[in-house]
Amino acid sequence: MTDTSRPVESRDPATGTVWRQFTAATPADVDAAVARARSAQQGWAVAPVAVRAERLRRFHDILFRRRNDVAAMLTRENGKPSVEAISTEVTVVLDFAKYYADRAPRFLRASWFNAASLAMKRKRIRVLHEPMGVIGVISPWNYPFMLSAAIVLPALVTGNAVLLKPSEMTPSTGLLLGELLHEAGIPSDLFQVIQGDGATGAALCGTDVDKVFFTGSEAAGRAVALKCAARLIPCSLELGGSDAAIVLADADVRHAASGIAFGRFSNGGQTCVAPKRVFVEGAAYEPFVAALRTTIGALRMGPGDDPDTDVGPMIREHAAAALVAQRDDALSYGATMFSGAGTDREAGWFVAPTVLLGVDDESRAFTEETFGPLLPVVRVADVEEAITRANASEFGLAASIWSRDTARAARLAERLAAGSVTINDVIVTAGMADVPHGGVKNSGVGRTHGMAGLEECVRTKAIVADRFASW
Ligand code: NAD
Repeated sequence: MTDTSRPVESRDPATGTVWRQFTAATPADVDAAVARARSAQQGWAVAPVAVRAERLRRFHDILFRRRNDVAAMLTRENGKPSVEAISTEVTVVLDFAKYYADRAPRFLRASWFNAASLAMKRKRIRVLHEPMGVIGVISPWNYPFMLSAAIVLPALVTGNAVLLKPSEMTPSTGLLLGELLHEAGIPSDLFQVIQGDGATGAALCGTDVDKVFFTGSEAAGRAVALKCAARLIPCSLELGGSDAAIVLADADVRHAASGIAFGRFSNGGQTCVAPKRVFVEGAAYEPFVAALRTTIGALRMGPGDDPDTDVGPMIREHAAAALVAQRDDALSYGATMFSGAGTDREAGWFVAPTVLLGVDDESRAFTEETFGPLLPVVRVADVEEAITRANASEFGLAASIWSRDTARAARLAERLAAGSVTINDVIVTAGMADVPHGGVKNSGVGRTHGMAGLEECVRTKAIVADRFASW
C-alpha cells in the first residue's frame, strides 16, 4: 500500500516541468522493507569481505560505463550543469567505490594482540568490527547521487543492509543509484530505495533500523535525533553550514575571488560546504571585490544541459524566494549588492549570482544558512577580527583561508570552529574519499567519508581469552 496523498515528483528545475511521479511509502511499507532488509542482511554479513568488496568494484565499473546516464539524470532532476554532475558526483563516487573496496578488508581484519594491563598479562584480545544491521540513509537533493553513495557504499561493504530514502525532490536519482547497485550484484532486499518526504523519513527513523545517517537541514536533523534517541539508536547528522572564507592581506586576490565564486556559485549556490560569509582583510578588500566583479561578470546562467552554462537554476521556487528574502533583509540593514547576468528564460527557478557588500552581522544572510547564489562579503580590520566573526556562527561545517603564507594559514586553520578547513581552495574536502566529512556546533554530529565512514557503520566487539592454557 502506498500513500497517494503526498506525491513525490521529479521536476526539471530549468523548466519547472514534472516528468515523473512516485507515491510516498506508508509507515507499513517502511516496516515491511526493513523486515526484508533484516532477513537479507543475515547472509550478507557472513559473506567474506572480499566478496562484498568485489561488488563495489563491479558497481565502479558499471557506473563508469553509465556515467553519462547518471550525469543526465542529475542535470534533469537537480539542474546542475553536466560538467558539474560528472566532476562533483560521478567521479567522486567512482573514487569512493574504489577507496572502500580497497580499505574495507584491512579495516575488518581482527587480529589477536596481547593485553597491556599489568595484571592481565596472561590475556589476549581481539576487537571485531561487526555490522550494525539495517541502516537507514536519508539524503538531500543537492548532491543526491554523491551524498547517498558515499554513505551507502561503506555501509554495504561492512556487511549492513541499507534503506535509502532519497529527497522527495530527487527520487529518480535515488532509484538510479539502486539500479546500478543491483546490477552490480547487491541483492534487491539488501539495498532498497524508499520514496517519500519528511514523514517517510520520520517513519524510517521510528522503525526497526539500527542506525540512521541523515544529511539535510538543521531543523530536520534535530527531529531525526529526537526520534533516534527515543529508540536508543545512534544517528549521524550532516547538517547545514554558513562557512567562512577568510581572505588575508597577502592573498592572491584573483585566485581567491575565482575560487570563492566557484565554491559559492557551483550547483546553483546550493552546496553545504560552500563559502557563505567572506571576511577580507582591509588591504585586500578593494582588489578582491574588483576581481569578484570581473569573475561574476563572466558567469553564464542557464539550463544545466547547455554546455555554455556556468550557473544552473535553483531547485524550486520556494528556495529561490527564500534566498531573495534573505538578500532583501541584508539590503534593509544597509548592505549593497551587485549581480552577474541572469537569464531571460521565463520558466525555471533562476536567481542571478549576487554579491552582498557590507553585510551586518545581525542580518539573516549572516545568522541563517543561505542556500543559493548569494555571496556576502565584508571588510575586517585584521585576522583576529576575521576569526572572531567567523567563529560567531551557530554553524561550523567547513571554512577556508586564502593566503600566500600557507604555513601561517595552516596554523590559523586550527583556530577555526569547523569540521574541515581548506587553504587556498573551497568545497573540495567533501569530494575527497579519504577526508572525514562533518561539522561542529549546529552543523552536525558524527563523520562520514574516509575511514570514519567505515567506523560509523560498525560496532566493536571485544573477545578476551587466555594466552596460555591453565589446565
Ligand atoms: P531537508 O532537511 O529538507 O531534507 C533532507 C532529507 O530529510 C530529505 O530526504 C527529507 O525528505 C528528509 N526529512 C525532512 N524532514 C524529516 C524528518 N522530520 N525526519 C526524517 N527525515 C526528514 O534538507 P534539504 O533541503 O534536502 O537539503 C538542504 C540542507 O541540507 C541544507 O541545509 C544543506 O546545508 C544541508 N546539507 C548538508 C550536507 C552535509 O554534508 N553537512 C550536505 C548536503 C546538504
